Amino acid sequence: MKRLMPRTLFGQLAAILFAGLIAAHALAFYVIVSERTAATKGVMLNFMEQDVASSVALLDRLPAAERESWLPKLERRTYSFILGPGEEGMRPTAPISMLLLTSLEEVIGKNYPLTASALPGPREHLQVHMHLRDGSPVTLDILPRGWPMAPWLLPALIGQLLILGTICWLCVRQATRPLTDMARAANAVGPDLQPKRMAEGGPEEVARAASAFNAMQDRVKSYMTERMQILASVSHDLQTPITRMRLRTELMDADPEQRDIILRDLQQMEEMVREGVTYARSAQGGNEAPRSLDLDAFLDSLVFDYQDLNKEVSLHGAISTPVTTRPLALRRVLGNLIDNAIKYGGSAEVHASMTPHGRAEIRVLDRGPGIPEELLQAVFEPFYRVEGSRSRETGGTGLGLAIAQQLAKALGATLTLQNREGGGLEARLTLGVEAAQD
Ligand code: ATP
Ligand code: MG
Repeated sequence: MKRLMPRTLFGQLAAILFAGLIAAHALAFYVIVSERTAATKGVMLNFMEQDVASSVALLDRLPAAERESWLPKLERRTYSFILGPGEEGMRPTAPISMLLLTSLEEVIGKNYPLTASALPGPREHLQVHMHLRDGSPVTLDILPRGWPMAPWLLPALIGQLLILGTICWLCVRQATRPLTDMARAANAVGPDLQPKRMAEGGPEEVARAASAFNAMQDRVKSYMTERMQILASVSHDLQTPITRMRLRTELMDADPEQRDIILRDLQQMEEMVREGVTYARSAQGGNEAPRSLDLDAFLDSLVFDYQDLNKEVSLHGAISTPVTTRPLALRRVLGNLIDNAIKYGGSAEVHASMTPHGRAEIRVLDRGPGIPEELLQAVFEPFYRVEGSRSRETGGTGLGLAIAQQLAKALGATLTLQNREGGGLEARLTLGVEAAQD
């Protein structure tokens, strides 16, 4: 049963309604036909007994020679008279034949003793034999049949069913459309949490669901904004006291070694604060407008900037298709990936290519230690750093990948990490060539 059901709600509702309609239709048809048969049967029997009685009386009074010429006038749709003994057959047993015989017996049986025989054949065929008063045999030949159906009846029924089916389809579509709309709206809510308003019209339940959905979106957005604002303001407000402390430390008249340690710590704190602000901002995806970009030239200049600082970064492959995106955000994403490759692998290779699905793919490769398989997802969490990378040279805040991930989402891109064969990490950014929708 489950397998027969259509998968969509629309299909299921339409199927149930339509099956119900067909069943109701078939039942109504059956009831009408059987009532009609019963009614015609009564009328027919009544008419027949009168008619047969007068026909037999007529034949009886006619001179034998004239009887033949009267036969066509006495012929009816379901029975006719034959001058002669008729055919031999079985005793009739069919209910309709028995009914006919009983009523004929009542009207003419007294004057003309009857015998009946059922003749073999595909349809019921009955002959009633009798003798007129002059002794000549007469046979009543009966072929019972119902009234024929009007030829327009079936097309009318089919037409009716078609009209009902169409109305069903329209109703169900009307009723299920808001669900599709809601799924689309829920899907469209991006990482920037720009609410996608649902129209709050339509039937009451739908309108209520839509307004609840809209309210939920607003609440989620306000919670998120609030948290990001707290993070941003704490990070931001820390900048001033840290700067003040750094200045004071520099002026401090203390052991230079101790002073350097404090200064290094302060510098690290400053970096963390800066990253915190950036992370909070990246959640909104920035308010940079997307624009068409020559990605090859863009990557070239990015790589060149690193080479300029004597970093080992190289560019391979090309995209050769203009891409519509937000350059500053993209630069931050790639910058974070390249920084990691340099920090943990010593050097970075940037590979650019088009995927078979028409998306631009930028891969940042290194030959460093890679990341344990089970942590490949965890490193995207804010402040998550793989144990052991907390050494002084590679000290960071653990926000780089979190920022990159969030900006990638805002760009409509996907960012994945995987370990390379032969060691090292591959960070893969796949980007649509059209502007990301938000
Ligand atoms: P930040 O980028 O904020 O200065 P971070 O580099 O430690 O600090 P992420 O960029 O988020 O933070 O990276 C998270 C962790 O993932 C890193 O601490 C590191 O352990 C691991 N990691 C990231 N990139 C690589 C890489 N290319 N090779 C090996 N490990 C990496
Ligand atoms: Mg990093």
